[in-house]
Amino acid sequence: MNIPEPSNFIQEIIVDDLKTGKRNAVHTRFPPEPNGYLHIGHAKSICLNFSTAAKFGGKTNLRFDDTNPSKEEIEYVDSIREDVRWLGFDWEEREYFASDYYDQIYDFAEQLILKGKAYICELKGDAVSEYRGTLTEAGKPSPWRDRPVSENLDLFRRMKAGEFEEGACFLRAKIDMAHPNMNMRDPAVYRIKKASHHRTGDKWCIYPMYDFAHPISDWIENITHSICTLEFEAHRPLYDWFLQALELKNCPQQIEFARLNLTYTMMSKRRLLELVQNKVVMGWSDPRMPTISGLRRRGYSPSSIREFCDRIGISKADSMVDINLLYFCIREELNASAQRAMAVLNPVKVVIDNWEEGRFDEIEVENNPENPAQGNRKILFGREIYIERDDFMENPPKKYFRLHPDGEVRLKGAYFIKCVRVDKDDQGNILEIHCTYDPASRGGESPDGRKVKGTIQWVSVPHAVSAEVRLFDHLFTLENPADVPEDKVWSDYLNPNSMIKCEAKLEPMMGKATLADRYQFMRLGYFCLDSEENKQGKLVFNRTVELKDSWGKMQAK
Ligand code: ATP
Ligand code: MG
Repeated sequence: MNIPEPSNFIQEIIVDDLKTGKRNAVHTRFPPEPNGYLHIGHAKSICLNFSTAAKFGGKTNLRFDDTNPSKEEIEYVDSIREDVRWLGFDWEEREYFASDYYDQIYDFAEQLILKGKAYICELKGDAVSEYRGTLTEAGKPSPWRDRPVSENLDLFRRMKAGEFEEGACFLRAKIDMAHPNMNMRDPAVYRIKKASHHRTGDKWCIYPMYDFAHPISDWIENITHSICTLEFEAHRPLYDWFLQALELKNCPQQIEFARLNLTYTMMSKRRLLELVQNKVVMGWSDPRMPTISGLRRRGYSPSSIREFCDRIGISKADSMVDINLLYFCIREELNASAQRAMAVLNPVKVVIDNWEEGRFDEIEVENNPENPAQGNRKILFGREIYIERDDFMENPPKKYFRLHPDGEVRLKGAYFIKCVRVDKDDQGNILEIHCTYDPASRGGESPDGRKVKGTIQWVSVPHAVSAEVRLFDHLFTLENPADVPEDKVWSDYLNPNSMIKCEAKLEPMMGKATLADRYQFMRLGYFCLDSEENKQGKLVFNRTVELKDSWGKMQAK
């Protein structure tokens, strides 16, 4: 095999393994716990596992790490499958559940006992931690540490048979109560938990600990490189210890990388679940959520997320990624491909007094100036149009180039107009703005070289499509939502303006928008139909991302 060049430290390990013959294949796995929906952090892990294996001609398994019986649900399993597939990765027939290995994992636990490397301990709660010692103090041996093998085996089987209550005893590895690494101080291997499991039902009342189940699951699946996040670094000696104690051959190797942290983004599944349960958001796929389903509903493409994961790279040091990089990735893509459209989010009516009643002109505009191949389209222009409320000011400051009482503004692709009068109600609210147009400025071209700086979008009143448009902002006002001050809780930092709904007016073709379409609303950003509201037949558009590129600007500086 021609071994490709490595492009990060994990690939360096792999290349080494292949060159020295330690391995002759690469086999990774993505091991989500089905206790929530996947988020953008998981996307980093998915891209890493699948693309690393693919680069070296290897395979990747999807393994549901369902060793915790009380929390897992089938809804999550389904959503995980959908999200991984949507991201563009295929685990083929290699879909596994850690719970499928319960019999084997149990047998391995008996083997540990038979080898004198595990015992049944009857210490309870606080006593367990007391005996464990602290970072600066060695622990002391459990009074049950030297139980004979036969007694351990008997008790373990009776645990399995359901003879004891939860917490009455547990199986623990016999390693070293003075080990500097606390994880090695006789860690738990199996505990009693009288809970039904979503797949094994009531077959088991004892369940293996993650630290035991994981290396064994990896070994059973012939995983070569078991890639996980840095918080497992201190568990690696235990991962290796179990495999060695069981005298297994061709063992997987655990390699840790830094998890993704994103500014203004909460990534813990437990907290995301709270947001869903407390109805702070509209569900796991709320477009403000950092979940893959949320990003999908927001209008992100799989390729933009993969591009983002590629750009952030893989390292061994924890860091915080600027969310603007994610915005940048989708914006770049949409700029090249999105259909341009005119939309007015906060409309005010403009009447063009010198335009004949009933006359409509066909205005030709480009579908995408970045890609002329997308052609042009015609939209009708008439006496009454909507413009953005903010595009008019009665008493504008200097350098206000949009519509104001004495100034002229260009209506995109149409004509120059000038404001002549403003009609208001008794409260002083603007009812309509009266203007005149210059017939010589057709197409928005200056007839005599006079300068008109401002160009604004418009929508013909009789042809306008009404729709709801949703604008999103960060869910959290804290740059690092994990960094909540001691006297506060994270929910103190929820952004009350994270979703703003507008009753918008759109150009006619938007009435026929489909879920696959992506639009750039002129001057407003990139939008797509909301898939959930669409199911109810409602026309609701989500802003995927704004036009403003703060990431590119920052990079330029
Ligand atoms: P959470 O802490 O949000 O509940 P988790 O780590 O418990 O997440 P798992 O379902 O166990 O979630 O994660 C599956 C895989 O995804 C693991 O290998 C985990 O290391 C990885 N992963 C989870 N969060 C991130 C992240 N922010 N960045 C990169 N990888 C992640
Ligand atoms: Mg986990």
